[in-house]
Amino acid sequence: MRPRRVRYLTLVGALVATAIVTVGPGPASADEKPRPSPTVTEIRARGEIVVGTKFDQPLFGLRDATTGEVDGFDVEIARLVVREVFGRRVARNIRFVETPSRTREDALTSGAADLVVATYTITPEREAVIDFAGPYYISGQAILTRKADTMIRDAADLGGRPVCTVAGSTSATNLTAVAPTAVPVLVDTYSECVARLRAGSVDAVTTDEAILLGYLAAEPGAFRLAGSPFTTEPYGIGIAPGDPALVREVGAALRTAFRDGSWTRAWKRTIGRTGAPVPEPPSATSRQARR
Ligand code: GLU
Repeated sequence: MRPRRVRYLTLVGALVATAIVTVGPGPASADEKPRPSPTVTEIRARGEIVVGTKFDQPLFGLRDATTGEVDGFDVEIARLVVREVFGRRVARNIRFVETPSRTREDALTSGAADLVVATYTITPEREAVIDFAGPYYISGQAILTRKADTMIRDAADLGGRPVCTVAGSTSATNLTAVAPTAVPVLVDTYSECVARLRAGSVDAVTTDEAILLGYLAAEPGAFRLAGSPFTTEPYGIGIAPGDPALVREVGAALRTAFRDGSWTRAWKRTIGRTGAPVPEPPSATSRQARR
């Protein structure tokens, strides 16, 4: 009589052979099968996820000082992606941490945040350090000025004037390109810029229109937008490098949200409060959205 183990192996061999025949043409080799994301396994076991976002940007990521709750489109996007990729249990345990612009790559590479959803433009420079899924929103850089200041109509009028933006943002790099003679005032947060604009120590704030619209909506009598957006800022979800499966899963979760209406509902609950017309989700055929 044959030893048990051999019989067992024979049986397994037969089953595998049957599976190959009945499944038909699948991946040519086991190597082509996408590997599962180790991060998903780890976070599901941990039961909690840490998401970096902004705490001072109305409409995108704003923390209520009394309740400690964060609210905005980025927060909504984070919630629906986490639910889809990591499941409901983890989605009930999202810990939001503040990631000002210049801390975002470090937050990911150090492990301080698992994901960053924070008005975060996908750029080749950042892609050299971290990964992105998306884009899930497209904005463009614009200019906010005091309502009473009629001299600033577009970027060409910023020459010689103090203009506030945030260190480590694409807005800071773009400011130098579009208004090389403006005097950049670099701080850590956009709310600090708006405080300076209100106080009169700077003449304009420049960053994504989406962000500026939030401050404008909060104080409609005080500020106005000057000119139209002059860059393209595709927002992606930042992911620590080294887990391509996670990038794929987060990208797939975004595409599901584009298709099933949850992206639009998130938009209506947040940016939609300004009365702006509902946009289409970013094209599922764009280069970035296909990841
Ligand atoms: N989207 C731009 C960026 O990622 C500006 C907004 C921000 O700093 O969050 O740099």
